[in-house]
Amino acid sequence: MQDYYKMTGQQVREAVNGTAEPLSDSQVQANVEKFGPNELAEEKKKSILRIFLEQFKDFLVIILIAAAIISGALNDLESALVILVVITINAILGTVQTVKAEQSLTALKAMSAPEAKVLRGGRVVQIPSREVTVGDQIFLEAGDFVPADGRLLENAGLKIDESALTGESLGVEKDLAPIEKEAALGDRINMVYSGSFVTYGRGSFLVTSIGMETEVGKIATLLKTTSEKKTPLQINLDNFGKKLSILILIFCGILFGLSVYRGESAGNAFLFAVALAVAAIPEALSSIVTIVLSFGTQKMAKEHAIIRKLQAVEGLGSVSVICSDKTGTLTQNKMTVEDYYVEGRRIPAAEIDTDDPAQMQLLVHSVLCNDSTIDEEKEIGDPTETALIHIASKVGKDYAAIRSDSPRFSEIPFDSDRKLMSTCHQLEGKSLMVTKGAVDVLLKRISHIQEHGKSRSVTDQDRSAIEEQNMEFSRNGLRVLAFAYKEVAENFEPGTEDETDLTFLGLIAMMDPPREESMAAVAECIDAGIKPVMITGDHKITAAAIAKRIGILKDDSEACEGASIDHMSDEELKSYVEKISVYARVSPEHKIRIVRAWQEKGNIVAMTGDGVNDAPALKQADIGVAMGITGSEVSKDAASMVLTDDNFATIVKAVENGRNIYQNIKHSIQFLLSGNFGAILAVLYASIAALPVPFAPVHLLFINLLTDSLPAIALGLEPHTKDLMKEKPRPSNESILTKSFLTRIGAGGLSIGITTMIAFLIGFHGVFTAAGEGSALLGSTMAFGTLCTARLFHGFNCKSNKPVVFTSKVFNNVYLIAAFFIGLILITAVLTIPGLHEIFKVQTLALPQLFTVYGLAFINIPVIQLFKLIKIKN
Ligand code: ATP
Repeated sequence: MQDYYKMTGQQVREAVNGTAEPLSDSQVQANVEKFGPNELAEEKKKSILRIFLEQFKDFLVIILIAAAIISGALNDLESALVILVVITINAILGTVQTVKAEQSLTALKAMSAPEAKVLRGGRVVQIPSREVTVGDQIFLEAGDFVPADGRLLENAGLKIDESALTGESLGVEKDLAPIEKEAALGDRINMVYSGSFVTYGRGSFLVTSIGMETEVGKIATLLKTTSEKKTPLQINLDNFGKKLSILILIFCGILFGLSVYRGESAGNAFLFAVALAVAAIPEALSSIVTIVLSFGTQKMAKEHAIIRKLQAVEGLGSVSVICSDKTGTLTQNKMTVEDYYVEGRRIPAAEIDTDDPAQMQLLVHSVLCNDSTIDEEKEIGDPTETALIHIASKVGKDYAAIRSDSPRFSEIPFDSDRKLMSTCHQLEGKSLMVTKGAVDVLLKRISHIQEHGKSRSVTDQDRSAIEEQNMEFSRNGLRVLAFAYKEVAENFEPGTEDETDLTFLGLIAMMDPPREESMAAVAECIDAGIKPVMITGDHKITAAAIAKRIGILKDDSEACEGASIDHMSDEELKSYVEKISVYARVSPEHKIRIVRAWQEKGNIVAMTGDGVNDAPALKQADIGVAMGITGSEVSKDAASMVLTDDNFATIVKAVENGRNIYQNIKHSIQFLLSGNFGAILAVLYASIAALPVPFAPVHLLFINLLTDSLPAIALGLEPHTKDLMKEKPRPSNESILTKSFLTRIGAGGLSIGITTMIAFLIGFHGVFTAAGEGSALLGSTMAFGTLCTARLFHGFNCKSNKPVVFTSKVFNNVYLIAAFFIGLILITAVLTIPGLHEIFKVQTLALPQLFTVYGLAFINIPVIQLFKLIKIKN
């Protein structure tokens, strides 16, 4: 390894590439093949076998295994075998689901993987960081991750956070000069290292090593594949599952004791206990949640919201405040210059006259103090700046020629805290620093004003005239930039303290129309009990004008400037935030305080952000939302959701999806638990009434694992209804097992349990047998058939908390209809095909018996719909 920091940039390029030129396409190809992808080796993923074996770790499954062993010991080999076979099938299904869910999460992650700006084929293009190779020239700006190690070639005030590597959290200032002496990693200030990120400035570097060859690759023991943490709902359900199992075991014990006490044989008593355990354990519970969440994230990705943390899906369902940036999220970010204002005259864009020296000067300055480019109609850079180039082109001026005539020799990059940007140029024989930025900020920095091409001292009158003009533009919702300049020494390297004593040149006002969908999305938010808040770096009057247009702001008193919260204590801010809908001139620290204040009031807050400084606020928010198109890499990394279209309406849609997914999961759980509860009631009744065991374990496992899983998943895919966004957000701390939820489970279970026992008694007493004689086997067959079919019907009951079964909504979920028919065919086959009887411990049903089963099962629909109607009425 060479000491690249001791060489100049050009020497490094020659050493690495063998030429002073940038890499050609074929060299890139050769290097990609030679060095491989730019990735850190990950810890080996869990093998499929391991995932499969882990399925048996579940406490509920362990109980079933124990039941199988004891059944075997009691010589009920068939039961033992059936339980084991079904557990294995369950484990296979679980494995497939887990692997699929992981694959889809990995695919989602890849969609939001970091990218790098690299020089390829003579042009700067954006590519995934993993495709960067040795010898590439990478361009950096604030908010970018450094994708590989390399030697700096260009540096405009770069500050880099290298804390991941050195532990030093302050940004390191960079420099281009070769370092002669031996230097430790942290002191090689002309190098940049993978794993760090740019907090300020611009620059470019030549890649010297990638992947595991980078410094971070060398020290990193294998990167842990961050396995997805469980969501609060999953944890909640796991705990519930554990408690439920313990309860079931206690119940089984009591039932066993009771039966033995009543003189049953231990074997028979045990069969009851096993039946109860199998009936009660909802095997599919946790995997259903995983599947529904994973389907949900795929749907959201199609709708432009990429979920980076699974927890966000649930959080979205209870979002009560959405704090959104204005520019680009609520507005189109398609800026067009509307007016120039120079030497006291307002000039509409259509009337710009480049023969007028002052207007031409403003045009030249606006193109010079500007980082954007337009390449074959493709715009690269900040839309505020591309608008300035567009207007120059429109009046016939070539921006590239203007820039090459007056090259930039130093600069202070834009930053949203300072709201200013300055560049220094050689212009008409003078060295000039051109500064542009927010009007209010720039006005504080001027001491002179230009008039008839000459600079003179600025008066209070001048200031009020500029402010008045700024107000007028702002009231029309225009975004205004002010321009000023001052002469500097040749090759002057300015610092922020030099942005003073400037000569005011003029204003440029531009229009950024609201997105068409913003208005509807804001209205939807308000209907859904969610408060939309605009947080913007723009001027208060501009922000208020736009906010009014899209419905966020009703009264001007709801708008304030970020600075007004500076002197407030956190306590004061807490009572203040409720009254405010628009925060203007906000800096990233304000964002954190605003989020915290809302959170302390018990809200779940979604907050958007795009800049490097937004990362802490995105982390603080319950749902940090980054912009996929304009957002910095650092902000995307900190966010839990990335919008691929940067659109506010997408956040609202994601909230709707979040609510729907949560509600669907709840309906799936309700479906599973009420079915199980029905089975428990039937077993308990039989035990108390001294009847034979109504079900063999195989019956219950058949239902729980085969005919119940599909409707449960289908319920998770239920499309959302219009009502969903008419309700208030769900309190985030609300337990899933609310009283009303348990009542629904109880009612469903009772209805299913009663119809099942009626079926058992009909069979047991032989109501429909030719000879008038029933049997325990017939009773058990009919009970099994009814329980299974009733649960299939009950799927429709669980579609909604409202009685929707007798409306057209009953057909809106094809998955549920398919699941119903698959289940019905399976159970009918078991009840009617003689070959299956031995395995499933049933006897063939005659047609009247079969229809009795269907009829009893169907009764559950009208009964539960009636229950819902009564419940809603009360
Ligand atoms: P939002 O926070 O809603 O995205 P914003 O884009 O206006 O709003 P910032 O990018 O922080 O927020 O900009 C703040 C202010 O800084 C703007 O109102 C403008 O006056 C000024 N400004 C924006 N971009 C530039 C730039 N490239 N150069 C100089 N000043 C700028």
